[in-house]
Amino acid sequence: MSDYRHLYIGGEWVTPRGASTITLVSPSTEEVIGSVPEASEADVDRAVDAARAAFDDPTGWSRWSPADRAAVLERFAAGLETRAEAISKAVSSQNGMPLQISQAFETVFPPLLLRYYGKLVSERGAEERRDAMFGGTTVVRREPIGVVGAIVPWNFPQALAFLKIAPALASGCTMVLKPAPETVLDSYVMAEAAAEAGLPPGVMNIVPAGREVGAHLVAHPGVDKIAFTGSTAAGRAIAETCGRLLRPVTLELGGKSAAIVLPDCDLAGSLESFFGATLLNNGQTCFVGTRILAPRSRYDEIVETITAFASSLNVGDALDPTTQIGPMVSARQRDRVESYIDKGKAEGARITTGGGRPAGRERGFFVSPTVFADVDNRYTIAQEEIFGPVLSVIPYTDEDDAVRIANDSEYGLGGSVWSADPEHATDVARRVRTGSIGINSYVNDPVSPFGGVKASGLGREMGPEGLAGYETLKSIYQAP
Ligand code: NAD
Repeated sequence: MSDYRHLYIGGEWVTPRGASTITLVSPSTEEVIGSVPEASEADVDRAVDAARAAFDDPTGWSRWSPADRAAVLERFAAGLETRAEAISKAVSSQNGMPLQISQAFETVFPPLLLRYYGKLVSERGAEERRDAMFGGTTVVRREPIGVVGAIVPWNFPQALAFLKIAPALASGCTMVLKPAPETVLDSYVMAEAAAEAGLPPGVMNIVPAGREVGAHLVAHPGVDKIAFTGSTAAGRAIAETCGRLLRPVTLELGGKSAAIVLPDCDLAGSLESFFGATLLNNGQTCFVGTRILAPRSRYDEIVETITAFASSLNVGDALDPTTQIGPMVSARQRDRVESYIDKGKAEGARITTGGGRPAGRERGFFVSPTVFADVDNRYTIAQEEIFGPVLSVIPYTDEDDAVRIANDSEYGLGGSVWSADPEHATDVARRVRTGSIGINSYVNDPVSPFGGVKASGLGREMGPEGLAGYETLKSIYQAP
């Protein structure tokens, strides 16, 4: 049991102003595994005040040299590394992510991103002098945008938080982070590492809470920018508030990506990568390609390969290092996934494996890896994000048809193309309307921008481009 009684605000462990708590339940065992205070609106006010004071301090974090900030971020990264085991266990025990995935992503991305952005801002310089067309010169300056309100979901709570924390802090911003109520224990380990690294008081503040308190943070007058990852529905609500306030916002939202299998592909030889691109984290991953587009010429064989693969996956307790598919994060999410399975059946798709709860698992929010064949792209299961281990195999006639089906979606976040000819696959990838796409795999790379088009979001994280959301530009004209 992990019980916490305080909130990390203003560089201190403070007593919460509200009386509510968040109780954490293991999705693998349904046992209570911990509790933390739920931040109230008054706690958010205090956190924003602390972040505001830290940002406005004339000798504070935002005025430090990038190299000095990078040195603190390096210590933060090292502190996270020494806590890697605690972090991966906390994540997997809360959201059902198989331990091997939390060890590969949740404890690897955060230190890597802190070091990447620390180095980038140190090497780049904040100012550039340009010869002006009307004589004289202009100093073009990048300045930190201010106090960032960051709101993240439960599916990759550490990696998604650090996609915001690393560029924001490297740029000189300060932050109030609101983790999702399903994953808060890991945020305490993060706070311990932040405190130990010597982040000045108020640079980072953490307010675990639900959506109402999140909405309070979004609209707070002391906040200069919102960075959000979560569902498209919540993203729209947040964008409306930010639109009214003219508050800059980045939105990383839902997806329903396509995995296009070309006729020359050796899918059976690529199943490990295929897993990462389609079923990662029990299908609770925004970028996974859950619409598998298969050529009619090889349709039956591809359905068979995917069916055999999905039914071979080891479903079990998220903390078991051999588990490949863990439980859904909550009973609610399990019910949601099951309701989509019912819809798929009702619409006429054919289940080739899975379709229910695994035998012998009386406890835990498990859903067996499920494959639907004979799916029409217009079906609900092909149009809406399920966020579970459910794949739909959709037949196509030729490449134009495959591209048309891939693009026939409200979303545009990830995707993949599978082929023996990577150059040709890259040509196909160029035609897909999406923010990112992989050839014979899908791996987010920290040096490359990541984000969505259409209902998948606005703005980009990662890469040098990921800094832009945390900076504002100032031109200082100098007369000749
Ligand atoms: P969610 O939108 O319900 O919640 C996400 C976070 O936003 C939580 O912290 C929640 O408390 C908060 N929140 C919800 N409504 C809010 C509001 N109106 N104002 C302020 N805060 C609010 O999403 P979820 O179900 O927790 O996460 C799954 C979703 O996240 C999926 O749709 C998935 O595709 C998406 N996601 C996107 C990316 C990406 O990078 N594009 C990455 C991971 C997950």
